[in-house]
Amino acid sequence: MKNIIEVNNVSFEYITDENTLKAIDNLDLQVKEGEFVAIIGHNGSGKSTLSKNLNAILFPTEGNILINKMDTREEDKLWDIRQTAGMVFQNPDNQIVATVVEEDVAFGPENLGIEPNEIRKRVEESLKSVGMYELRDRQPHLLSGGQKQRIAIARALAMDPDVMLFDEPTSALDPELTAEVLKVIRQLAQNHMTMIIVTHEMQFAKEVSDHIVFMEQGVIVEEGTPDELFSSENDRVREFIGKVSA
Ligand code: ADP
Ligand code: MG
Repeated sequence: MKNIIEVNNVSFEYITDENTLKAIDNLDLQVKEGEFVAIIGHNGSGKSTLSKNLNAILFPTEGNILINKMDTREEDKLWDIRQTAGMVFQNPDNQIVATVVEEDVAFGPENLGIEPNEIRKRVEESLKSVGMYELRDRQPHLLSGGQKQRIAIARALAMDPDVMLFDEPTSALDPELTAEVLKVIRQLAQNHMTMIIVTHEMQFAKEVSDHIVFMEQGVIVEEGTPDELFSSENDRVREFIGKVSA
């Protein structure tokens, strides 16, 4: 299987007036087509910074990232990369772009200049795959957080991405709403969508992932299959999994 994502010796620094903070430190990661990778770790370990680098919102200070062989720093590939790697963020409210659900999902493809029939088809398929087709005429801001996140997933799917990135998609949601969103992500995994998810949902990560990455201070401390991570001898990994799963 080919690599959809290649992270090669990547470092990322936040540079402010007062100081420089290395949020990603010489990190390597490969994600193959069809793989489901979970990224876990304490707050501040660099997970969101890495996700934003994968979606060309931030760019490596050192090293490079290839998304389907496209270097994220090639400026003329920017929109191609963002379309190839669909992103769903933590906050359900910050992602809404239109006042009707189906228009919201159509927004991206419309901007790509895709022809109307194809857009209609994509909107319908994406909304069906997240179980929101019946609510296509609703106003997104009036829906529940779980429904908003499912629309955010549909919005990304309508771009026909090769990989989906999720940065703590359920951490702003109550347990029932978390379950409905995780169910949709699990279905995408069963359909072999390539995905990277940053999550604190350990049971979900254990059940669905092919590969789990544990990060600390911008570094991958340990990675492997769920079985390998959950039986790790590393104290830091054990402590984290124990704390989050409790
Ligand atoms: P995580 O998602 O694992 O919680 P982040 O990637 O958000 O971690 O943060 C990694 C480190 O970078 C933290 O020390 C955080 O304080 C710092 N950081 C994150 N965003 C910024 C920013 N915009 N400016 C400066 N420092 C930041
Ligand atoms: Mg984060």
